[in-house]
Amino acid sequence: MYAEIVFPIPLNKKFHYSVPSELTSRLQVGMRVLAQFGTRLQTGYCIGLVTHSPIAEEKVKPIEAVIDNEPMFDEKMLTLTRWMAEYYFCSWGQALEAVVPSGVRKQMTGQHELMVTLAMPREKIQAEIKSATKLPPQQARVLKFLLDSDISVPLRDSPDVHRGLPTLSYQEVLNRLKISPAPVDALRRKKLLKVFRRTLDYDPFLDTSIPHTSPFTPTPEQAHALEIIKQSLDRNEFKAVLLHGITGSGKTEVYLQAIEYLLSQGRQAIILVPEIALTPQTIFRFRSRFDSNQIAILHSYLSEGPRAQQWHKIRDGTAKIVIGARSAVFAPTTKLGLIVIDEEHEPSFKQENVPMYHARDIAQMRARQENAVLILGSATPSLESFYKASAGEYTRIELPYRIEQRPLPPVEIIDLTHEISPKNSHPVLSKKMELAISEELAQGNQIILFLNRRGFATLIICPRCGAIIRCPRCQVAFTYHKELNQVLCHYCNETHPPPTVCPECGHPQLKYRGTGTEKVEELIKRLFKEYQIARMDSDIMTTYRAYKKTLSALDTGKVNILIGTQMVAKGLDFPNVTLVGIISSDTALYLTGDFRSAERTFQLVTHVAGRTGRGPKGGRVLLQTFKPNHYSIRYGSTHDYLAFAREELKHRQELNYPPFSQLLRILVEGRDIEKVKTAITKISDRLTKQITRLPVELLGPAPAPLAKIKGKHRWHLLIKSKDIASLQALLYNETTADSLKQLTKEFVSSSRAIKISLDMEPVSLL
Ligand code: ADP
Ligand code: ZN
Repeated sequence: MYAEIVFPIPLNKKFHYSVPSELTSRLQVGMRVLAQFGTRLQTGYCIGLVTHSPIAEEKVKPIEAVIDNEPMFDEKMLTLTRWMAEYYFCSWGQALEAVVPSGVRKQMTGQHELMVTLAMPREKIQAEIKSATKLPPQQARVLKFLLDSDISVPLRDSPDVHRGLPTLSYQEVLNRLKISPAPVDALRRKKLLKVFRRTLDYDPFLDTSIPHTSPFTPTPEQAHALEIIKQSLDRNEFKAVLLHGITGSGKTEVYLQAIEYLLSQGRQAIILVPEIALTPQTIFRFRSRFDSNQIAILHSYLSEGPRAQQWHKIRDGTAKIVIGARSAVFAPTTKLGLIVIDEEHEPSFKQENVPMYHARDIAQMRARQENAVLILGSATPSLESFYKASAGEYTRIELPYRIEQRPLPPVEIIDLTHEISPKNSHPVLSKKMELAISEELAQGNQIILFLNRRGFATLIICPRCGAIIRCPRCQVAFTYHKELNQVLCHYCNETHPPPTVCPECGHPQLKYRGTGTEKVEELIKRLFKEYQIARMDSDIMTTYRAYKKTLSALDTGKVNILIGTQMVAKGLDFPNVTLVGIISSDTALYLTGDFRSAERTFQLVTHVAGRTGRGPKGGRVLLQTFKPNHYSIRYGSTHDYLAFAREELKHRQELNYPPFSQLLRILVEGRDIEKVKTAITKISDRLTKQITRLPVELLGPAPAPLAKIKGKHRWHLLIKSKDIASLQALLYNETTADSLKQLTKEFVSSSRAIKISLDMEPVSLL
């Protein structure tokens, strides 16, 4: 007997190994094995068992070991991943590797977790940070992070560790700070930190008891939606529904009741929400309706162990409802009946590294396989989905009204080009905005202020020579973070002390321009001293608990003003928020390299605006902009999706952009710009030769809008095609495939200097 094995490497090929007689009874298709590959043992996936090998008997190597006791992948998952590999131009092995969480692959059972805690009281650590001037910056960051995180878990099993000291999962510290283990280990050796293993005795999502809620009587529109969904569930047939409902129209209630019905059929549901909307509030709504034991949550705040635990809970059928971000689409359900993608237009459903899949497409494939129903919910459907609905591929169901006929909040546009402050610059807050805030505060109402940039100043510039201080690795302007007192690159996370002189001309005074959330917070605190102000962006919301704390302070009215980035734009439902102030929403409109910038702006305005007017007090929105006449701002302010879609589709059609074409991006990255250019030119030349007979258009090669990141130059090439078949014909055509393979070899293996990636239906062109 021979096993067909694929490896998680960028080579789409299956390899044949012989199965030693003692393993024949154990090995099954879908299991992982250890096998000699090249010079070392590597984990591979068994995708077939055959009686013949195309390779000569004496050259076939045996499998060394079988890793799993039962198959990790069933027939359906194998089919799905093979399709994924073909569609997204990656290898089958890479696709298989992506669908199982790393903790499961490492055979963690979720029982233990490595933890980090301070090894001495806070004051001593603080003194240490201050006195030890030679403490390397990364180590200082780790200590500061722990000090700030204010989390002390009761440590039942670790009596030797000080109670009440901040304690975090080791993995979480590395993930949140995006660092290697080195600084943590160095601090452990210096006896400033303690690292220990603890038995898992908590689940961050199950720590509070939640009152039970009963289903609402559906509105006529909700009832109509539910009828269509239930009908397909009854018939056990595939159906894709685009649930187009304005913010607050009761989409979530439709999901909840559809799930309730599905559970009575003994089937399982997967709910995908954007990472950012996976809020305690969202989870709360599911947990108040269903038994907590039936719910599995796959959240990026979970470290490997607990994640593996959730995975097993789904696989053994204990969990009936899976809630998670993008990768939860691969949850190992055994009886799937429903997949919901909430906020289906969100770019975060697309994975940005290999395999570069879109959860929406995977969900559609899976639902088809399982005769399940797919619900795509949004107030602002992506134009792709809207177009598919018009073409009949999805059934579009509208929820055009808010619950209890609450009106959508009126949006007033404030034209910032007319607002000049005494210092002859544009103020952060217009007079009108300032006035509106004080009015609402005086009435005891709450306010959300939105701004899509974190940090204090977004630009540091030399007033003499005009030089902009940029990250040397990315050529992107550094952002000044006041709390850290560092400049930070938002692309590679590199930090530096703020420069004291201009690096170009030596001028000793630099100007700090542009506004981030920290600056808004400082300003608001100065203007509204007597009020409680909180900020929510990825700089401070580094742990789930911190996040939860801020939200609950908002809920109980302890916070009057919340300032935040897109973290505040999704999923929040606070009836006492009567004013949303959009400090700025224009950033996307300046990203000229992205054909979706108008769509993104429209979505942002709609969703941020949707955070208010959710209670009996109503609400209003003030929108500051430098582009008051842009159609995305205009239609955003009137909540007119259909008008926006009509205009945007016209532009897309004129330029032949999706949804009117299929897009593929080829990105070449490397440290040596000459090599990058040579490689992309070669690819372009070879493709040009092939395309004469195909309805395909090549754009570029050109430098990517972010032309350098982490020291790597980036050039790209866009291929626009009328249909997917022509794209596949082009790329799977032997000559192309050969030359791509050859190029990959030529550039990758010889010098490791170049990376070529193929991104099918890219959501970012930056
Ligand atoms: P969406 O998901 O479209 O933003 P939600 O499902 O969050 O809307 O509904 C908005 C609010 O209305 C929620 O507080 C929800 O509990 C409530 N709600 C939803 N459906 C009904 C209904 N049929 N009757 C009364 N209240 C409802
Ligand atoms: Zn950088």
